[in-house]
Amino acid sequence: MITETPLVIEYLTDNSAAKQQQSWNQVLASATKTVEALLVEVAVPLSELNLRQQACVEFPLLVPQPFINKIEKGNALDPLLLQVLPQSAELEEAPGFIDDPLAEKHSNLQKGLIHKYHGRVLVLLSTGCAVNCRYCFRRHFPYQENRMNKNDWQATLDYVAQDPSIEELILSGGDPLMLNDQQIEKFISQAEQIPHLQRLRIHSRLPVVIPQRITKNLVKTLQACRFDCALVLHINHAREIDSVLISHLNTLKQAGITLLNQAVLLRGVNDSVAAQTDLSKRLFHAGVLPYYLHLLDKVKGAHHFEVSESAAIKLHHQLVSTLSGFLVPKLVKEEAGKKSKTPVPVMHLLPLKAGD
Ligand SMILES: *Cc1c(COP(=O)(O)O)cnc(C)c1O
Ligand code: SF4
Repeated sequence: MITETPLVIEYLTDNSAAKQQQSWNQVLASATKTVEALLVEVAVPLSELNLRQQACVEFPLLVPQPFINKIEKGNALDPLLLQVLPQSAELEEAPGFIDDPLAEKHSNLQKGLIHKYHGRVLVLLSTGCAVNCRYCFRRHFPYQENRMNKNDWQATLDYVAQDPSIEELILSGGDPLMLNDQQIEKFISQAEQIPHLQRLRIHSRLPVVIPQRITKNLVKTLQACRFDCALVLHINHAREIDSVLISHLNTLKQAGITLLNQAVLLRGVNDSVAAQTDLSKRLFHAGVLPYYLHLLDKVKGAHHFEVSESAAIKLHHQLVSTLSGFLVPKLVKEEAGKKSKTPVPVMHLLPLKAGD
């Protein structure tokens, strides 16, 4: 894990007296790491403890306190809890659910870099995350082999520099905001030397689990760089968006950073019209536009989150007929070897029966 020094003490300026806040890496360091501690925190009975712990062997539990605070106490089916609590179902084999559903090993030509789509490359800037989402499609990704050091940064940037078709850098991971501000600033300033790069995109879930990660320095770096910047958040449920997150997102918005969201459609978490419409409205309230709603990648250990494609299409159709157009995320799935995310056909494009 990357640690940041020196520790920055930040202050929230609200109407009441300025409140002292822990720095984001302190919050990260004290994140909950055991099933038992999490269940105690959220006041849920310690059921299936052995099986849950077994599920952690391959993919550990990790949840920072600000996310735990948003979980409803005593509710074993809380949609936020379900995203982070290991289940015995993770140990079951399910047909079609495999280790590397996106066959990323094949497009991972250069360490720390995935170039699958035209005009943009995904840089795996950090191998870690601040939260371990149980449905994560990268739960078996060979991160250890992709751990980048300073020389690899150079090799990545060299790869980008020799291909003028690449206009956009996507910082991803893991979670790229696991790097500290100085490291991010350094990477961006090196990338700025490549004349054909125009856009910088950051894919991160970190602000959702530790809002303090949006530091003044990070905002300043993004505002000062010559790129058009977007932050693509990963929020699956309206309740993940609280006033603390909103105030931090505001600083990014004021700095001219475009804020987008991608969510994963998850059974029991957000697979209802109410959950999706609430999410879209809450996102917009926070200054974020819905971008993608992903069908679950069929990764081993996540089959219990699956929503069938036909149910997803039906749900999406209901969103189209309920929400303003700009509040409807694009329903997509990821298929190995494709040149883009695959749009999942929307129902109104399919032939409708008379009277529909
Ligand atoms: C998802 C993804 C992107 C970004 O795709 P957009 O449709 O532009 O959001 C880029 N590269 C890879 C490898 C991806 O998986
Ligand atoms: S933050 Fe993203 S990459 Fe990290 S575990 Fe969650 S879904 Fe996976």
